[in-house]
Amino acid sequence: MSWLIVVDFDGTITERDTQDDLLERYAPEAYAEAERGLSEGRLTLRECMEMEFAPVRGDHDTIVAETVAAAKVRPGFAEFVEAMEAAGNRLVVVSGGFESVIQPVLERAGAAHLPVIAHEFTITPDGTTLDFRADSDCDVCGEECKRGVVESMRDGMPVAYIGDGYSDRCAAIAADRRFARRFLAQDLDELGLAYTPFDDFHTVREALLAG
Ligand SMILES: [Mg+2]
Ligand SMILES: [Zn+2]
Repeated sequence: MSWLIVVDFDGTITERDTQDDLLERYAPEAYAEAERGLSEGRLTLRECMEMEFAPVRGDHDTIVAETVAAAKVRPGFAEFVEAMEAAGNRLVVVSGGFESVIQPVLERAGAAHLPVIAHEFTITPDGTTLDFRADSDCDVCGEECKRGVVESMRDGMPVAYIGDGYSDRCAAIAADRRFARRFLAQDLDELGLAYTPFDDFHTVREALLAG
């Protein structure tokens, strides 16, 4: 059976969330306040991101290069991509993060050929603006959400979803097979939905090859 394998970027392909690391460094107060607003349900994901990134100031290329340099790819990712493609599956990276960070990290990991669907940001000395590329509020959760993106690519294939966070929740619920860590794992536990926990991509590769 071939799968559409949807992989989140921050905290999934990378060991730590590159957005969180950037915000902790450049806008720690706005970050803490916006994340609180999101978890208490006062802000949508889009509002949360706009609030926390707005006060990030500096040179775009410098901050992006620093973020890319600090990103560590989770073990087994390159082997996972190679094995999944060799077995006839289709892989796509769907991220609530930013293409200018994602592309160079994938390149370094030997996976520059993977299709990426993500947002973009522009950092300036006066603040940061976000460009929400997909710009589609989900019919199911009402949020800036990955479900519609995944549905539009599915083309009759079963979906395996691999993620760790808030923005993965709705799309992961709709998937046929789930791999989860952190917040996504907690959410799926609460919903009583099955998933495979993972710390590296060897686990995911072996589980998917086993069928
Ligand atoms: Mg994530
Ligand atoms: Zn949704």
